[in-house]
Amino acid sequence: LAHSIVCEKISTIDSGLRSLFNLQAMTGPYTIMEWGSDEAKEQYIKPLVLGEKIGCACFSEPNAGSDLASMETKIEERGDHFLINGTKTWISNGNYADYAIVYGTFDRTLKYKGICGVIVDTDQQGWHTSEIDKLGDKNSPIAEIFMEDVVVPKENLLGDLSTGFKVAMTSLDRGRISVSSGALGVAQACLDASVKYANERVQFGQPIGKFQMVKAIIADMVSYVEAARFLVRRAAWLNDQDLPFTREVAIAKYFAGEAAVKCAGWAMEIHGGMGYSLEMPVEKYYRDSKLYQVGEGTANIMRLLIADDALGYKQANRPRLKTPSEFKDLE
Ligand SMILES: Cc1cc2nc3c(=O)[nH]c(=O)nc-3n(C[C@H](O)[C@H](O)[C@H](O)COP(=O)(O)OP(=O)(O)OC[C@H]3O[C@@H](n4cnc5c(N)ncnc54)[C@H](O)[C@@H]3O)c2cc1C
Repeated sequence: LAHSIVCEKISTIDSGLRSLFNLQAMTGPYTIMEWGSDEAKEQYIKPLVLGEKIGCACFSEPNAGSDLASMETKIEERGDHFLINGTKTWISNGNYADYAIVYGTFDRTLKYKGICGVIVDTDQQGWHTSEIDKLGDKNSPIAEIFMEDVVVPKENLLGDLSTGFKVAMTSLDRGRISVSSGALGVAQACLDASVKYANERVQFGQPIGKFQMVKAIIADMVSYVEAARFLVRRAAWLNDQDLPFTREVAIAKYFAGEAAVKCAGWAMEIHGGMGYSLEMPVEKYYRDSKLYQVGEGTANIMRLLIADDALGYKQANRPRLKTPSEFKDLE
């Protein structure tokens, strides 16, 4: 819940910076805390949380985005270590990361059951990165990563070889708390800017906020923002209570992402020509908002998860894997 509130606030100022908080808290350290060996917890969590070391989380590949079970990156056992070969793409902070959580397959014939996750020290010869330019979130650099015989000690395996896909999915659930909170922050920033502008901009002898059609847009923005906030906070609270929340965080991430994009469009409308100007912040919100329909699972993937659960095809929420006391030991 604290992470959600912080991420929302940061994102009202800069959505790109919010991404760093996800990597330094959720998809990085939280995953290690939940699934890492004692050696890995000792070595990696503190420097990441303190921001002394930069982390990244590598799920996506050129041929495996939404369909993570089709990953091609190979993670092969070689005696006392693993060897990684493959390419990752769209990796936030990938070109600056000291530590990376890399997911790959140890046996492609096993499909999702062949996925595993490991912690990688990136300071080695086989790790190469190339920056990717993008539309928004400019303070969150993105990289493609090429791995050639990258070496990982055995104790850096997350969970065991049979639980890798669960590691990835639980990690994404945590990331979705961060991402949905970031989307909420962008939506709130759009609302704040629009209220200010609607009160200041005078046309036909009165502030444009006095016109009913502008009021209607403001009312829609307020409603989307507040509904998103309840959904996002509920998901974060469930996580804090050690209760299942995969379904709830998917709803939160889907709705908050839509709220961000809708509110950014409405903010552009209220600002008229100034919405299109680089002088005002709303063009930035407009560019930043689109990430929230894509990152950490697209809007469609969230809808699939929500609908499959509602239709009884696939239950989204599964029992939590660890007991609360194990987390408290680490505080
Ligand atoms: C700014 C940014 C930062 C990112 N950071 C990271 C990161 O740090 N680490 C990381 O691993 N990845 C990261 N990503 C990648 C992101 O997670 C993927 O882009 C996302 O999962 C979608 O994968 P894709 O781009 O391959 O799209 P695809 O999976 O190719 O999807 C394309 C379209 O098809 C739709 N689609 C696909 N399958 C289905 C289906 N079964 N049913 C209905 N529709 C479907 C999708 O919803 C989407 O609209 C980042 C992306 C962005 C834009």
